[in-house]
Amino acid sequence: MTRPVRARIDLQALTHNFSLARKAAPASRIMAVIKAGAYGHGAVQVARALGGADAFAVASLEEAMQLREAGIRQPIVMLDGVFEPAELELAVTHQVQLVVHSEEQVLWLERFRSAASVSLWLKVDTGMNRLGFTTEEALPVWQRLQRLPYVKTGGLRWMSHFACADEYEHPANSQQLERFNEVVRFSASLQGSRAECSMANSAAILTRPETHFDWVRPGIMLYGASPMTGEYPLDVTLRPVMTLESRLMAVQKRRKGESIGYGYAWTCPEDMPVGIAAVGYGDGYPRHAPNGTPVLVNGKAVPLVGRVSMDMICLDLRSQPQARFGDPVIAWGEGLPIETVAGHAGTISYELMCNVTTRVPRVYEAA
Ligand SMILES: *Cc1c(COP(=O)(O)O)cnc(C)c1O
Repeated sequence: MTRPVRARIDLQALTHNFSLARKAAPASRIMAVIKAGAYGHGAVQVARALGGADAFAVASLEEAMQLREAGIRQPIVMLDGVFEPAELELAVTHQVQLVVHSEEQVLWLERFRSAASVSLWLKVDTGMNRLGFTTEEALPVWQRLQRLPYVKTGGLRWMSHFACADEYEHPANSQQLERFNEVVRFSASLQGSRAECSMANSAAILTRPETHFDWVRPGIMLYGASPMTGEYPLDVTLRPVMTLESRLMAVQKRRKGESIGYGYAWTCPEDMPVGIAAVGYGDGYPRHAPNGTPVLVNGKAVPLVGRVSMDMICLDLRSQPQARFGDPVIAWGEGLPIETVAGHAGTISYELMCNVTTRVPRVYEAA
């Protein structure tokens, strides 16, 4: 067999999860977030499968152009806007909408001349305390952007981002919403009409209808992982899109007292079978996954033992003495939530998805 690691991408699960975003926010348009190669799932394939999305959101002009070159026609939003003024020309030519979060970006836009028109999303920092204009700065900036001759009618919009939406009870959530509402209402009162707005990520889409506004921005929920921390109960069933799978490349009989792999990080408590699966940190499996992290062999969970290597992991097969060379292994996905593996490894599902490396073939199952 060739090296058997694969990331199987279930496009039917993807469209199912997308329809759950639609149902959760029926009055809003959907900006599907497909930055970082659609969280490791492949941006072009995901965009093609999500033909019903009203727009796509990315993190760079390169990501936007990759979609345009693949023939994706929907509006594309650069979530951090441009990184230098030289990007404006290409962005505007290709109907890429820009977030505006800094004075530098405003100055670049004021110096820019364009025959084509563009839409802009003014980012208000309502409490994330990372990017964007404070609620006091935001209105004067809005007025400067309104004067730009190449901004589409109705093409100037408000956006903000939650810091703690994954924790339902966190007091920052209602505070941020309140601040956003204040800015949006005040600007509407000055203008006589309310501009389009966007605030909700996956967590807010599923738990806070009052944050949905005109556009919602689902990311992680599309890929089938819970956006909430801990065991927060969702009233929808997300389906995992990515299954990272491989096979046993060896099954060894080890003796009591023998230690396994780099650093001898685990020692056999008795004579026992140890399976070696062809998946490691060179594929994106987290190197910090400790002893006991579950891995599926023949659909049943067995514990990881010893250090994760670049190309392989070792598994305690005492519960499956019949397991043999070539048997199927699942690192996460179908039957093993990625959140569980992330929890063991001290990280989040987002990071595991993004870290699946280019050497892992993505195998797409049609919607
Ligand atoms: C990544 C991102 C999202 C999507 O967040 P999820 O938690 O994956 O739903 C939404 N908005 C902005 C600004 C983002 O950067």
